[in-house]
Amino acid sequence: MKILVTGGLGFIGSHTVVELLKENNEVIIVDNLYNSKIEVLEKLEKITGKKIKFYKYDLVNKEEIEKIFKENEIDSVIHFAGYKAVGESVKKPLMYYSNNLISTINLLETMNKYNVKKIVFSSSATVYGNPGVVKYTEELGRKDASSPYGTTKCMIEKILEDLYASDNSWNITILRYFNPVGAHESGLIGEEPNGIPNNLMPYVMKVASGKLETLSIFGNDYPTPDGTGIRDYIHVVDLAKGHVKALEKIKEGLNYYNLGSGKGISVLELVNTFEKINNVKVNYKIVGRREGDLAEYYADATKALNELNWKTEKTLEDICKDSWNYEKNNK
Ligand code: NAD
Ligand code: UDP
Repeated sequence: MKILVTGGLGFIGSHTVVELLKENNEVIIVDNLYNSKIEVLEKLEKITGKKIKFYKYDLVNKEEIEKIFKENEIDSVIHFAGYKAVGESVKKPLMYYSNNLISTINLLETMNKYNVKKIVFSSSATVYGNPGVVKYTEELGRKDASSPYGTTKCMIEKILEDLYASDNSWNITILRYFNPVGAHESGLIGEEPNGIPNNLMPYVMKVASGKLETLSIFGNDYPTPDGTGIRDYIHVVDLAKGHVKALEKIKEGLNYYNLGSGKGISVLELVNTFEKINNVKVNYKIVGRREGDLAEYYADATKALNELNWKTEKTLEDICKDSWNYEKNNK
C-alpha cells in the first residue's frame, strides 16, 4: 500500500512511519517542519534501512498538496499534521483554527479529486470533554472541548462525519489517542517539544537530565489513591502499531477507536517508576491544581481490541526506560 503520512516527521508520525515500513508499505511524508526537524528523516532512514520520499510542503497550500497527489498513486492517508499545544491554542485560537482546519479541508478536497477515499485521522480523548465518568468508551460521544485545540479535533471529526454522510464510499477511521509518551528503542527518535514542556513526561525527562530544576506536580488533593492526577499513558510505538492495524482493517464506513492502555497511572506513580527503573532522581514539589485539569480518566480500549485486534504491549517501565534512553542520546 502507498500511504501518504502528513506530519510524518513529528512525534507520533515518525514512529508510525517506522511501523508502516516494517510491514512493507510504501510511505510518502509531507511535513512543513513547523514542529519537527529534517534530521528526523535521516534517522528514519537509518532505523528502517529504506529511502523515504519526503515533501517539505505546507498543507495550507492546496497547490502543494495537489502536486503530491499528481506525482504519486496514493492509496490512503494518515493525517497527523496539525498544531497541538493546548495552552498556546488558548492564546492564539485563530492560528490553531486556521492551520488545523484549512489544512484538513485542503487535504480532503484533494483526496476527493484524486479519488483517494481512505483516511485515518489523529483525534484525541479531549473530544470527550468532561463526561462525568473516568473510563471513556467511544459511545460517550463528543462534548465541548476545553480549548481551541480540542475544538479543532471536534470540528474535524464533524467534518469527516458530514463528508461520509454525503458520500459513503469514503473509509474513515478516527483514532482518539490518550496520552502518548515514550520513544523508539533505538533512542534516535522521540518527542522534542520546543521550549519548556507543558506535558508531564517531557518535563520529567528535562528535570532528570538537569535541564530543568524541579517538576511541579499539579495537585495532590484529587480524589485518587495518592491524590495526584490519573491519565492513560500510551507508548508511542504501541500507538504507531495501532495506526498500522487501523489501516489494515479500514472498512467501508466511519469508525472511531480509543487508543490507550486501558490503565490509569498517577503522576506520582509515573515519577516513582521513572526514578526506579532509570536510577535517577526527579526533584519535584507539590503545587496547586492546574486550571482545567480533570482528576482521572483512562481509555476503554475494548473496541480496538475486538475490531482492530490491537492492544498495548509495552509497560510503564518500558515507557520510562525508552524516554530516558532518548533523552540521554539527545543531550
Ligand atoms: P507533532 O507536532 O510532533 O507532529 C505534527 C507534525 O505536523 C509536525 O512535524 C509539524 O511540523 C507538522 N505540521 C503542522 N502543521 C502542518 C501543515 N500545515 N503542513 C504540513 N505539516 C504540518 O505532533 P504529534 O504529537 O506527533 O501529534 C500528531 C497528531 O496527533 C496531531 O494532530 C495531534 O493533535 C494529535 N494528537 C497528539 C497527542 C499528543 O499528546 N502528542 C494527543 C492526541 C492527539
Ligand atoms: N502534570 C503535572 N506537572 C506537569 C505537567 C503535568 O503534575 O508539569 C500532571 C497533570 O496535572 C496531569 C498529568 O500530569 O494530571 C498529565 O498532564 P499532561 O499535560 O501530560 O497531559 P493532559 O493533561 O493533557 O492529559
